[in-house]
Amino acid sequence: MSYLKQIRRDYFTDKHVLVNSNNFAFDFNRSNSSIDQSICVICNNSKYNVIFQPDSLEKILFPESNFDIGEFDIDNNSHKEILIANKVHKPFSKLTLDKLFLLLNNVQTTFKTLISANFKNIVIYSNSRLVDAYSHHANFEILTLPFIPPFISQEIESYKNSMFELGSCPMCRIINLETGGPRQILSTSHFLAFSPWAPTYPFEFWIYPKSHKSGSSFASIAENEIHDLSLILRSTLGGLDSALNEPFFHLIFHNSLNDNDGEIHWHIEVYPQLTHKDGLEEGFGIYSNPINSERSAEILGKAARKELANLVGVT
Ligand SMILES: [Zn+2]
Ligand SMILES: [Zn+2]
Ligand SMILES: [Zn+2]
Repeated sequence: MSYLKQIRRDYFTDKHVLVNSNNFAFDFNRSNSSIDQSICVICNNSKYNVIFQPDSLEKILFPESNFDIGEFDIDNNSHKEILIANKVHKPFSKLTLDKLFLLLNNVQTTFKTLISANFKNIVIYSNSRLVDAYSHHANFEILTLPFIPPFISQEIESYKNSMFELGSCPMCRIINLETGGPRQILSTSHFLAFSPWAPTYPFEFWIYPKSHKSGSSFASIAENEIHDLSLILRSTLGGLDSALNEPFFHLIFHNSLNDNDGEIHWHIEVYPQLTHKDGLEEGFGIYSNPINSERSAEILGKAARKELANLVGVT
């Protein structure tokens, strides 16, 4: 079979992706479930300070000696912690909606506390592969940085350009465009999950709140919206695990900065880890994707709708 490559450019940034334009059979058999469950950095490593929470969520604070990130040391005023949902090994796709809500609610509480303490650059993310070993626990990491993350800068820039040129938020327009289209995965009361036009990873998807308030961030959403976020997150991550045999993935939050001059439309991006970087990506910043977003949205959408139906009790 010939692999027809199409060059796609991201909605706003300079990111270019070569995607397959035909629907070839992607190799789904990439299971990571055979990985030794005893190799767990949280269960086995005493360098993490685990703080037990009354609501049964656990919070891990990194000791100061682990504050080195790359070339700089984060000073003592910085903050890093990990919140995990269960003491036992359980991925996101197996959490109850209540537990996921509790986890997200606690992440929001920590996030709000850091905002009140005037940290400007607060990042929230989750790795299914944690630091130098495996984590089999659903978790979120929260970290403060002494600089603006480059991808956030780019999104702020495109927001500013769009406001200046067209007077509207670029992502509000994209949400309109993607709603009900071939790249939609799932839509709930407050959120839309879709595969982006130019996905840098196979099966990458984004979750956006449908409404946009000034200072848009995960810190500003209400309790009923966190419930709705739990539903769309649990459905899509459950769909990802059932369709692709529990792949590793990274999940990141992009929020507006805790600053008047750092507005974006906040959202979540999920990057399944199914392929390796090649020379084009490492050396030229050109990504290559073996499956197009229409096809991956079709596969993930079907699996996510099934999860949603099970969660809300519809057969
Ligand atoms: Zn463990
Ligand atoms: Zn917007
Ligand atoms: Zn983003």
